[in-house]
Amino acid sequence: MIEDILDSAKGPSSAEFDMILERAGRIEGLSLEDSARLLSIDDEGMLQRLTRKAGEIKERVFGRRIVLFAPLYLSNYCTNNCLYCGFRRGNDDAYRKALTVEEVVGEAKLLEAMGFKRVLLVSGEDSTASDLGYIIGAVESIYRETGMRIVHVNVPPMDVGSFRRLKKSGVGVYQCFQETYHRPTYESVHPSGRKRDYDYRAGAMYRAVEAGFEDVGIGALLGLYDYRFDCLATIAHSRQLYERYGAHAHTISVPRLRPAPGAELAGAPFAVDDSDFKKVVAVYRLAVPSAGVVVSTRESRGIREEVVHGGGSQISAASSTIPGGYAGPSGDGPNPEMKVGVEQFKTDDNRSLKEVLTSILKTGLVPSLCTACYRVGRTGESFTEMALSSKMGRFCKANSILTLQEYILDCDNMNGLRELGMKAIEKVLDEIGEPDFRREVAERLKEIRSGKRDVYL
Ligand code: SAM
Ligand code: SF4
Repeated sequence: MIEDILDSAKGPSSAEFDMILERAGRIEGLSLEDSARLLSIDDEGMLQRLTRKAGEIKERVFGRRIVLFAPLYLSNYCTNNCLYCGFRRGNDDAYRKALTVEEVVGEAKLLEAMGFKRVLLVSGEDSTASDLGYIIGAVESIYRETGMRIVHVNVPPMDVGSFRRLKKSGVGVYQCFQETYHRPTYESVHPSGRKRDYDYRAGAMYRAVEAGFEDVGIGALLGLYDYRFDCLATIAHSRQLYERYGAHAHTISVPRLRPAPGAELAGAPFAVDDSDFKKVVAVYRLAVPSAGVVVSTRESRGIREEVVHGGGSQISAASSTIPGGYAGPSGDGPNPEMKVGVEQFKTDDNRSLKEVLTSILKTGLVPSLCTACYRVGRTGESFTEMALSSKMGRFCKANSILTLQEYILDCDNMNGLRELGMKAIEKVLDEIGEPDFRREVAERLKEIRSGKRDVYL
């Protein structure tokens, strides 16, 4: 079906392109046919208009805010053999490490000290080193012993009963990438281990939602197969979730294949260039306007600075893909002698959180460390409905400046950020149209300035 749509999708004429953008402006998403036509564009002028439109839609749905998070790698033991990954079982050179609970808490505290409030736990698949009990233990200890406000996970798929237990531990979003939706390619890059079962992975989100996860995150690893196929299939996946449960994928990640020490693949079989990467980000935004479109530190600073204006809405920062990487030698952590695990892949943007926040502010956007939605129940169907009816932006704007104010008071020690941040806070406050809501946000800001924390709307 995806192939048929792509086969019949030609790049649009100028008039057709205008009509597709007009339909995108209704913030109802796009059909697979419209999405496929946008993916066929290679005219520079159209690409620029496409990314501008995606930036505009992102702003209408979520305001100018860009959400920040960091991954925390728990374990690199893995019984799968994904040819692209440094953690694959066949990588005999890899030093394996599963963090102890104390080490997990230590890593989370280091991220908290940098200013992060949301963390994404990541783990290889190994029923001994990182079973469900281990993952749940990590989640619970982070909530118990650190100030992290929401824990999301990117861990291997499981059955409904296990998902239910995982959800009960307080996890926000369950994230899992299909890698490629092209079955023959999927089978060739996953030669062994449980991940070899395409259907088990493809069913993960349905099991997760059945088990109570209202928010799930999907994605395709760009570079394994024709990006147009995988982008369209990802959109189709989100649409299926919407049709079945009334909620689109909460996030769509856009991971692009990176070099990984010990990986079997020397390079991407279907390399995606920067222009096509930006097109994919923009098409995701127009096709699924309610989704958080996530761009990680796999991408360079330059690309990330562009895509946050072209449809991207969430980025990671200051990231390590090494279990123990924040405390150990690759971070500025306290334990440079610690023996850490092998890294999963090379990151490309290695700036600190402060540097990333500063650069976001300099381009006129507002960094956000908000975690409110998961905690007040703006999740699943209600999140999708609010986002598609443009009712979400007011909360996003308010919470971005509340969390930025907290950050400035608690973590900022860098010249220039304070001034930039305070200007952004005043500007966003001024722009809030509803007088009662503006007064309420101003009141919350005052509370934060007088010492109250974790204030949100
Ligand atoms: N092990 C679990 C799994 O595979 O689902 C969960 C975490 S895995 C460490 C997270 C994601 O990293 C994978 O789903 C894959 O898309 C991505 N990844 C693996 N190798 C990569 C590489 N060389 N470059 C970029 N992303 C990669
Ligand atoms: Fe294991 Fe995940 Fe890496 Fe595959 S991508 S080898 S499952 S850690």
